Amino acid sequence: MAEQPKKDFEVTLSDEEWRQKLNPAQYQVLRHHGTERAGSSPLDKKYDPGVYYCAGCGQPLFEAATKYNSRSGWPSFYEPIEGAVETETDRSHFMVRTEAHCSKCGGHLGHVFDDGPKPTGLRYCMNGLSLDFHADETAPEAETGSGEAEKPTGGGA
Ligand code: FE
Repeated sequence: MAEQPKKDFEVTLSDEEWRQKLNPAQYQVLRHHGTERAGSSPLDKKYDPGVYYCAGCGQPLFEAATKYNSRSGWPSFYEPIEGAVETETDRSHFMVRTEAHCSKCGGHLGHVFDDGPKPTGLRYCMNGLSLDFHADETAPEAETGSGEAEKPTGGGA
């Protein structure tokens, strides 16, 4: 189990509060760097217009327009909403990967790889359990920023 990022987030709840707020599967992914089974998320093959929010704190993370089919079995995006997703180096499971978490609550989302499509070349490989999809919404701040990810290496979410 990887450690939670060591910084203060705008939304900070106790472990017990997170347990009560999230269902057990979401809690495991968001608060303990869990990974859902590939292909298990109903959001994986969903391409309707809308916005993907953090299932932990409700911050808008991705616009549906940046979602694509990576064939990985996890919902994948090439770019987050500016400032919504932060990354850090994850050395767990004998791999060096780029971990991705919500910038507001620190909830674990997935990992970032460098085999994504243009224009960023990045693949934000996300756990559907970390996301809350709202159809037909537009992100409040629809600016496009380039995510700053560290050098990612292969692997799954
Ligand atoms: Fe969050």
